[in-house]
Amino acid sequence: MATCKILVADDNQQIRLLVSAALRSLGHEILQAVDGETALETAIAEHPDLVLLDVTMPKLDGFEVLSFLRKRPETESVKVIMLTTAAQKTDLKHGADLGCDDYITKPFEPKVLREVVERVLAG
Ligand SMILES: [Mg+2]
Repeated sequence: MATCKILVADDNQQIRLLVSAALRSLGHEILQAVDGETALETAIAEHPDLVLLDVTMPKLDGFEVLSFLRKRPETESVKVIMLTTAAQKTDLKHGADLGCDDYITKPFEPKVLREVVERVLAG
C-alpha cells in the first residue's frame, strides 16, 4: 500500500502515541491533534487521507468534528474512523448517520488497529 497521510486526533497522549507508532510502522505519514478544534483545522489545512477521531475530546467532540468535515468540500470525502469506548457503543449509530467509515473500540490491540485502517484505506 502506498504511503498515506493519517491524522490522529485524541486528547489522550498515550493513545495518540500508541496509534501513531502502530501506523508509522506501516509506512504512513502521521499528523496529530490534541483536541477537536485542532483536528478540524489540521484536516482542512493538510488534506489527510484518513482521520482517526476520538469521540470525547475538548473544544469539539469527535461527532462534531465529523459533522463539520462532511459539510466542507475540502474534507467531505476524507475517510474517518471513530475511536470509541465500550460505554459509547450506543453512539455508534450516530457516527454512522454522520458518515464515519468504521470505528475501533478502546482498548484495542495495535494489530486490530492496523487491520481496520488498512481495510478503510483500501475501500
Ligand atoms: Mg478522549
